[in-house]
Amino acid sequence: MPELLAGKTALILGVANKWSLAYAIAQAFRREGAKLLLTYQGERQKETVGELGAELGAAAIFECDVTRDEDLVKLADTVRQHGGPNGRLDTLVHSIAFANREDLSRPFVETSRAGYLLAQDVSAYSLVSAARTIAPFMTEGGSVITLTYLGATRVVTNYNVMGVAKAALEACVRYLSSDLGPSNIRVNAISAGPVKTVSARGVAGLTKMLEAMPLRAPLRRNCTPEEVADTAVFLASDLGRGVTGNVLFVDAGYQVMGF
Ligand code: NAD
Repeated sequence: MPELLAGKTALILGVANKWSLAYAIAQAFRREGAKLLLTYQGERQKETVGELGAELGAAAIFECDVTRDEDLVKLADTVRQHGGPNGRLDTLVHSIAFANREDLSRPFVETSRAGYLLAQDVSAYSLVSAARTIAPFMTEGGSVITLTYLGATRVVTNYNVMGVAKAALEACVRYLSSDLGPSNIRVNAISAGPVKTVSARGVAGLTKMLEAMPLRAPLRRNCTPEEVADTAVFLASDLGRGVTGNVLFVDAGYQVMGF
């Protein structure tokens, strides 16, 4: 079987540990022959992401906190230095979100201004700033992929401020796809079903969600990180060349169900 991403370079934001969806995506991209550039958020993650990146043969592993503009400047420098031919980049994976823990357990109406803005900044605006930073390197077109969740359009207990941030993120996907489409840069989101990761454990009631999925989802099971990752491969590869501005659900079909 030919490798679907041979000759492509991918920048992946959001590997924190081996449970991260971004790590599953990095593994799948590696399997398909992509060159990888990985980032980590702060010193605390440096060692773990360094080890995971080394296993994957990443060409660069560097710090990037998306709330710091200077880190985005460094990100551009690193892509220029370690990207493909002439610093070319083909894929950006944005697998980043954050909200204060208390905003993911109390009623949404209690959300503070600071908590609301923080969730928007890290979880939605960062897609815009990262896309703007890397677009000049996508000289032969490219694919920008972000991760979202059903809580963007439906009320999911405790998802709260993150649901509102994901709604903004999905709108950003549509506006970015319109701006960047003429440069043949595609922008899409994968809406993953619940998967046990550090971020997901921050949402109160995750275990109940994971128990409910196999009872209700058409495929009668939870989705897996590998399924999310294979969909990212499709979007990053030439197979996805006609797809932009979309939200693709990888959730064992859960989102189609009503009563
Ligand atoms: P994770 O905790 O492994 O990944 C979240 C990442 O966001 C971490 O690497 C963290 O360092 C990074 N991050 C947070 N603030 C940052 C900042 N200021 N600068 C740079 N990086 C920052 O959890 P995950 O579940 O793999 O989450 C990845 C994405 O998938 C998120 O957007 C999440 O909302 C989305 N998602 C997750 C699920 C799920 O159930 N796990 C479902 C749907 C969507």
